[in-house]
Amino acid sequence: MNYKSTRGAAQAIPSSQAIKQGISSDGGLFMPEIIPAQTLEWFKELSDKSYIDRAVEVLGLFLADFTHDELYSAAQKAYGGEKFGGHAAPVVKSGYMNILELWHGPTSAFKDMALQIMPHLMSLSLQKTGENKKALILVATSGDTGKAALDGYAEAENIYIQVFYPENGVSPVQKKQMTTQKGSNVSVFAVKGNFDDAQTGVKKIFADPEMTEKLQKKGLFLSSANSINWGRLVPQIVYYISAYADMANSGQISFGQKINVTVPTGNFGNILACFIAKKMGLPIGKMICASNSNNVLTDFFETGIYDRRRDFHTTISPSMDILISSNLERLLYLASGADKCAGFMKELADTGFYRVDSGTLQSIKADFEAFWCSEEDTKAQIADSFSVNGYLCDPHTAVGIFCANKYIEKTGDNTPMLAVSTASPYKFSSSVLSALGEQAVSDEFASIKLLEDRTGTTAPAALSELKNLGERFTDSVEKDRMCEAVIDFAKNMSKH
Ligand SMILES: *Cc1c(COP(=O)(O)O)cnc(C)c1O
Repeated sequence: MNYKSTRGAAQAIPSSQAIKQGISSDGGLFMPEIIPAQTLEWFKELSDKSYIDRAVEVLGLFLADFTHDELYSAAQKAYGGEKFGGHAAPVVKSGYMNILELWHGPTSAFKDMALQIMPHLMSLSLQKTGENKKALILVATSGDTGKAALDGYAEAENIYIQVFYPENGVSPVQKKQMTTQKGSNVSVFAVKGNFDDAQTGVKKIFADPEMTEKLQKKGLFLSSANSINWGRLVPQIVYYISAYADMANSGQISFGQKINVTVPTGNFGNILACFIAKKMGLPIGKMICASNSNNVLTDFFETGIYDRRRDFHTTISPSMDILISSNLERLLYLASGADKCAGFMKELADTGFYRVDSGTLQSIKADFEAFWCSEEDTKAQIADSFSVNGYLCDPHTAVGIFCANKYIEKTGDNTPMLAVSTASPYKFSSSVLSALGEQAVSDEFASIKLLEDRTGTTAPAALSELKNLGERFTDSVEKDRMCEAVIDFAKNMSKH
């Protein structure tokens, strides 16, 4: 199966090329030429398999130029052993909701589901496309993505990774997660500035022909780990199919029965993967697009107008603090085709907003409902889920559950609901404690301990152990000297 750009660039390319390239030359995102529809029987046959085997089957449909053995080895390295401590994506019950927990990986956030396997898909893609240079992944991070990318890419073949984070812009736990990262191919720097400075610095390096040339001489090319890469999106389809199988296996639903799904949404990658699973034939009814007070998507689904010209809110669900949801482009492409999609994206770039036609809006509304959740409601939901159902959830997950309840209230729809849980509550201990009515403590590691005592639950070992790990990366860099840090790293690496 080949891949095409959402903005219509003519040439179709194999999946390995799409993964290596990341983004199409016309600025569009890669999408499979067709979405492989499957019978209910096919989904049923996956029910008896392990998560790894389910992943191999689903990935095999989309990554036709990868062999079964290659995909098995990648999935085994990503999800096998102790990495996820058993089932990579278990479904648990909380009240009438089924919760899909996607945070049992090494960094306790759902980005592990994609970033643990994507590096292996990337290494294989370099091989398959005959690439003789090595990839240097550059990441500017406001916290979670940096650690998840570092952990995923550590020791990946023919790939180096360098992460820049704002010196005073990440939490102490996030900082410690990054500065203690192991691996011979990794580098981490604090930037003297805010997240925008770090991101601008990275973007400048990508756009600088002199940098490209210098790196080329060292046998390197630049690449990114962000969520518009198809290699990051495709592993996310797997867990929807897996969750459905688990719900049927445990008797929550009968096979063939529809479920609804609520997804805490930022860049629209996770919920888009759910939509693709639906298009493949998985019995999904409505998808609830759940936002925090950065509710640009809620407005879009309501009015058909996407308008980023608005205030940015800093919330307790920071991974959803986003004004441009890049993967929405893939939905627009599926709903209205490449020509219209290219037009919308041009308007967004030129004016900061676009309006889709009513046909496109109607078609999208058949599958999606959108709601948003205020800061107060997020906290109330955390407290309520814990006191009523004994389920401790993080602020992002709380936004999803709140919005699902709003949908049920509005429609009376009693289709079984799957709520996607995207982070461990211990990743956001201070906010969760405060939602439970506890006084804040200044030391974040003390918060973790306090949350354990208060709730009788246990923090993921990787988070509690962090406190005692020695730091490897303590250097910081001026925001206009990031180039030099990259060149130094490249020099060091090419000696190996
Ligand atoms: C990244 C992230 C999200 C948003 O997912 P998208 O695929 O960007 O929509 C939600 N919750 C958490 C905890 C995240 O890290």
